[in-house]
Amino acid sequence: MTQEELFRNLIAHSKEYGFIFPSSEVYDGLSAVYDYGQLGSELKNNIKKYWWDSMVKVHENIVGIDSAIFMHPKIWEASGHVGAFNDPLIDNKDSKKRYRADVLLEDYIAKIEEKINKEVEKGRKKFGEAFDEEQFRATNPNVLRSKAKADAVRQKMADALNANDLVALKDLIVECEIACPISGTKNWTDVRQFNLMFSTQLGSVSDESGTIYLRPETAQGIFVNFLNVQKTGRMKVPFGIAQIGKAFRNEIVARQFIFRMREFEQMEMQFFVRPGEELKWFAKWKETRLAWHKALGMGDKKYRYHDHEKLAHYANAATDIEFEFPFGFKELEGIHSRTDFDLGQHQKFSGRKMQYFDPETNESYVPYVIETSIGLDRMFLSVLSAAYCEEKLENGETRVVLRIPPVLAPVKLAVLPLVKKDGLPEVAHKIMHDLKYDFNCQYDEKDSIGKRYRRQDAIGTPFCITIDHQTLEDNQVTIRYRDTMTQERIPIDKVRSIIEEKVSFKDLFMQLEK
Ligand code: ATP
Repeated sequence: MTQEELFRNLIAHSKEYGFIFPSSEVYDGLSAVYDYGQLGSELKNNIKKYWWDSMVKVHENIVGIDSAIFMHPKIWEASGHVGAFNDPLIDNKDSKKRYRADVLLEDYIAKIEEKINKEVEKGRKKFGEAFDEEQFRATNPNVLRSKAKADAVRQKMADALNANDLVALKDLIVECEIACPISGTKNWTDVRQFNLMFSTQLGSVSDESGTIYLRPETAQGIFVNFLNVQKTGRMKVPFGIAQIGKAFRNEIVARQFIFRMREFEQMEMQFFVRPGEELKWFAKWKETRLAWHKALGMGDKKYRYHDHEKLAHYANAATDIEFEFPFGFKELEGIHSRTDFDLGQHQKFSGRKMQYFDPETNESYVPYVIETSIGLDRMFLSVLSAAYCEEKLENGETRVVLRIPPVLAPVKLAVLPLVKKDGLPEVAHKIMHDLKYDFNCQYDEKDSIGKRYRRQDAIGTPFCITIDHQTLEDNQVTIRYRDTMTQERIPIDKVRSIIEEKVSFKDLFMQLEK
């Protein structure tokens, strides 16, 4: 099965089992907007908790806030979003499809990289045991030629974007002979800039002065509350402010399911540090955030850093943590060293001081900022795509299983009486009652036990407890593990501790603190 087919199945599966629905589906949906269903909301809440607690609970010097979506319009002038939150767009005149010029070029580079990887795999097959990948990449003429080509396009693109040179961007698309994936033609319009902010009117008067924006990022709500939090929380630099909330961007090309949406949720943390110490903290957060992802156990190879060639004018270091989605490695999280740009701009635009008095150095300064910014929906997609598995069983059947890390699984435990009679449902209900305050549990007595196990596999429930006739005599139940499908008999009073050990965030956090 190709990755594309697998991705299609995953999208269908997440709708069929109540994870994600297209928004306004009875009206044929709304482009790039999605609703989370009953299980999706649980998974999303668990991801939020993992992130929030890892920031706010684990770190004594990080606190969380919840600022409003609507903000004073001057904020977006100060932050640069009114003037420069643009994407370069280009249309294909034949298909009438709209693209981001930089994304067309990135896809082109990704294709060259794919070619290089194929060449490496060919080499591996040819040389067998003796294959030295590093040497092969450094010497094979085909690889070197492709690499030089990719590097050249990447450099030209970075130069054009940095210089805001839209003509050069178009020339590069023409030079690379990039064709529209729909029409197959190279009949392109010029590249234009397109502002991604949604605007609306505040109050009943619809004139320029009432225009406000739906926030395109949560970070500015943190910056403008910097002093409120610092003072009321008696925070000392270095300290962080975290926030989870909705953001809105009128994306030119919204595609790839919940990867790029027009309404989405961000989890951002701004860490305020002494000027001059920012690169040390940048390195620290880069490492901490990757470890947070890897601790979930979805496969270390699925993550990589992508250091930015194109730095925004206010940043002095930036990297993305990329995840291997079914459509390739793409940005999951950004980590940026933003200098004193944001606080400095708000100081300038608001006329209020955004300074911190450092009792250790007896100096006042505008702190520098390291930002970690992750899309909750992208994180959701990374979990779902790493978890989704269509597995051939020994008996020839196929099972679809979501191998969601147990701490994040929407339902932790299914309680299943073997039959609907003989007092088994009563025992099952009692177990449910004892455990439902600790874990999200599901009771199911319908259909054969095999079918019920499949249903739980499909939603990623890590444990199933089966109550049978023997339970009435020995107070033991059968616990079945989702991933291995192995089963064992355990006393009823051990169920809580076995599950607790596997689904508690505590172990993950302690592992991260080491
Ligand atoms: P991209 O290059 O993919 O457009 P970006 O660099 O503009 O992303 P940031 O502004 O750094 O993204 O936003 C931080 C995070 O917010 C991203 O790493 C991503 O996880 C998430 N994010 C950004 N835009 C969207 C979107 N349209 N839909 C879902 N998540 C998004």
